[in-house]
Amino acid sequence: MLVVYNPADGSEVGRVAKSNAAQVKAAVDRTCAAFPEWSSKLASERSDILRRWHDSVKDDKEAFAELMCRENGKCLSEARGEIDYGLGFIEWYAEEAKRVYGDTIPTHDKNANVVVTKEAIGPVAAITPWNFPFMMITRKVATALAAGCTMVIKPAEDTPLTAFKLLEHARKAGIPEGVFEVIVGDPKEIGLILTGDPRIRKISFTGSTGVGKLLASQCAATVKKMTLELGGNAPFIVFQDANIEEAIKGLVGAKLRNSGQVCISPNRIFVQNTIFEDFVKRLKESVARIDVDQGMREDFVVGPLVNQTGFDKVVSLVEQAKAAGAKVLMGGKPHAKGGLFYEPTVLTGLQDDSPLATSEIFGPVFAIYSFKDEEEVIARANQTEFGLVAYAYTSALGRSLRLSRQLEAGMVILNSGSVGTVSIPFGGIKQSGYGREGSYYGIEEYVHVKYVLMAGAQF
Ligand code: ADP
Repeated sequence: MLVVYNPADGSEVGRVAKSNAAQVKAAVDRTCAAFPEWSSKLASERSDILRRWHDSVKDDKEAFAELMCRENGKCLSEARGEIDYGLGFIEWYAEEAKRVYGDTIPTHDKNANVVVTKEAIGPVAAITPWNFPFMMITRKVATALAAGCTMVIKPAEDTPLTAFKLLEHARKAGIPEGVFEVIVGDPKEIGLILTGDPRIRKISFTGSTGVGKLLASQCAATVKKMTLELGGNAPFIVFQDANIEEAIKGLVGAKLRNSGQVCISPNRIFVQNTIFEDFVKRLKESVARIDVDQGMREDFVVGPLVNQTGFDKVVSLVEQAKAAGAKVLMGGKPHAKGGLFYEPTVLTGLQDDSPLATSEIFGPVFAIYSFKDEEEVIARANQTEFGLVAYAYTSALGRSLRLSRQLEAGMVILNSGSVGTVSIPFGGIKQSGYGREGSYYGIEEYVHVKYVLMAGAQF
């Protein structure tokens, strides 16, 4: 049995049965067996079924929000926001299913037609993290199913209950066995089964870079297509010509979301030296207004970190920074509430090579660096193996254009702290991965292109 604990107080939230290797293989068999029928349905039929799933989940929104709050630790308002975001993917791909267009290409043979079609890639698998237990699943499953693929998914061990609840609604809505399967068990063993099975044609993974690299190497043997959304180390740059109030609002929202446990969370905050003192002072005032608490409240609060490993990592990163001479201007230690709560923290005086700057923090820690000019900060922002997202605040148009071209990231966000929505291509470059989720680009990941030459016509 896999027991799920509430990170806010350690109480048991629920338990699910772990699948052994034979059960995992049986789920893969069902996923493969269901493919021919599901992929040959009309796009409009798949669309109708996805929409029923969407409506069924939406009707149960509050129960999902409470479950996510207890399972993951995020507050109710964030959980509700995640559900809206996640439902958006089901709705979007229910529509997109009907728009997987092909091409005709001017022929090279006057007795032939050249046609390009897009076909569902096959049975596929996904492995998801715990930080968005709902949205990570709908984003992958809705896209795959819309394209005509069938999908088996392994959610994170910290948050499987949301996944099984989504499955329950899927069955109620008419998504048959095999078309969508959920399994939990030993992640390494499941990973080996999914990547090793030649019938599984693609793996979509969101999680750490280390596990992503391992899965990519395992997928090489059967030449599987992959979508990898891995770690990030987002720079957040504030120039002296920026609207400071807006920049602070954008930064605090982006950083404290999910207690900082988000791959697009601002990790290195670069503030121009001319506004540094003022910016830090106003940032502290803004952070001080936010409560730290368990999430079953209507207002936004910074919740606990998800588990002991995550908590220990934040403690260790901040302790190392302190030992290296960083100035703690706020927080810098576990919260008096105890357990997995950590104080929102503001730190300055760090070097670019400090562990806080080179690792994905995944906690409510604002690490702030000062810079002199644009050229310098772009070079420092790009000095990372990651390239998921980069944020910058400036009111200068020319600078915005230069930043949009020179920042090495799959997503560049100017004068906003908000990245995600269903209609944009979400994903990274460099070691943050490849492939895109959301928008019309997302469904391309689940189809292959087939060129058909129809020759032999006699005119
Ligand atoms: P995090 O550090 O955020 O938990 P992980 O990459 O460890 O990130 O976890 C993301 C997902 O990858 C989870 O569902 C986890 O169970 C899964 N996972 C971890 N190790 C492996 C592995 N060796 N093979 C397959 N999946 C794995």
